[in-house]
Amino acid sequence: MTKHFRFIHSEIEPTMSTTSGLVIPCKAAIAWEAGKPLVIEQVEVAPPQAMEVRIKIKYTSLCHTDLYFWEAKGQNPLFPRIFGHEAAGVVESVGEGVSDLQVGDHVLPVFTGECGDCRHCKSEESNMCDLLRINTDRGVMLNDGKSRFSISGTPINHFLGTSTFSEYTVIHSGCLAKISPLAPLDKVCILSCGISTGLGATLNVAKPKKGSTVAVFGLGAVGLAAAEGARIAGASRIIGIDLNPKRYEEAKKFGVTEFVNPKDHDRPVQEVIAEMTNGGVDRSIECTGNINAMISAFECVHDGWGVAVLVGVPNKDAVFMTKPINVLNERTLKGTFFGNYKPRTDLPSVVDMYMNKKLEVEKFITHRVPFSDINKAFEYMLKGEGLRCIISMEE
Ligand code: NAD
Ligand code: ZN
Repeated sequence: MTKHFRFIHSEIEPTMSTTSGLVIPCKAAIAWEAGKPLVIEQVEVAPPQAMEVRIKIKYTSLCHTDLYFWEAKGQNPLFPRIFGHEAAGVVESVGEGVSDLQVGDHVLPVFTGECGDCRHCKSEESNMCDLLRINTDRGVMLNDGKSRFSISGTPINHFLGTSTFSEYTVIHSGCLAKISPLAPLDKVCILSCGISTGLGATLNVAKPKKGSTVAVFGLGAVGLAAAEGARIAGASRIIGIDLNPKRYEEAKKFGVTEFVNPKDHDRPVQEVIAEMTNGGVDRSIECTGNINAMISAFECVHDGWGVAVLVGVPNKDAVFMTKPINVLNERTLKGTFFGNYKPRTDLPSVVDMYMNKKLEVEKFITHRVPFSDINKAFEYMLKGEGLRCIISMEE
């Protein structure tokens, strides 16, 4: 028989945990079916196995990637599942072989990991770890191919190896970035996915030179973080493109200088942008997930030097079509996960950028709800309202 421990609302001891090695019953938001509201119920969270860590989630937020896989319209359905991947938490216990994290450490979980040993981890150019790279279809842990979550013996699938819509979750240690204990978790939780992704897409991948023109497709949190990157890099014009006119006012706070709504034009938006910029922008960053926006983002860059970066997660059957001459004319198409940041190595420095006031995080946070109202965060995103909604686990 497995021993159970009921967690009473007390803080975790900094050096040891009384729950270590035991199953923890706690609350989690379960997605039983595609597109149906999440149901908060009690799950049992098994202890971490080799190279795994169990963490207590403090704050989590909703990113559009959660919504796609919950709707499961253009993605493989996998239910029941615990979603969530943008979060901050505290280490509750560590599994065998974990030497770089301890009980009480403050961590950000990341949907893609860094094993430290593979060719990608050893390459300066890549963050696509062989062992721990993003896998949207896996619902189990790597160690034994099983889930650490169950309800009355029924396993519940993990999502992106993080499943942060739960008071406790088990994550591979290679997908956890240890951050400064001084960083406020209710703010830096959004650095664990969206903001770092957009920021890195501009600073690490598109690399605009000072004075460049930059187009950003999609003015959600990821796109506005890409715009923030363009502002930091000294872009002279930042053109924001979105179908939702409500985004425009907000985008001004992020340095977006001009707006284009594709719906206002009866010709492809890439033509409108080329006309506005004397032949095309120097850099463009796509943060929508929409295939037409991806094609427009590529075709609106200037020939000879333009670089387009795809960030949005496409429908699994989407196909990118463009005339090869667009490439021959010396335009570059790139893509990135997590803004090319290596999660464990680089994320602490993004947190430091916030702590040193180089990066503004507060302006991305437009809503806050207690865990019991998690479905409201989904409603805001479905309506295109606000940017990030922080879900507080301690109501
Ligand atoms: P969001 O819903 O907050 O923002 C998306 C914006 O795109 C919305 O404002 C929407 O109106 C706009 N949009 C949709 N279709 C458009 C079109 N055809 N033309 C112009 N604008 C359009 O989403 P988010 O959380 O900011 O995420 C943005 C995208 O980035 C999603 O696809 C998400 O899955 C993806 N993402 C990728 C990574 C990565 O590592 N590559 C990480 C996080 C998120
Ligand atoms: Zn690796």
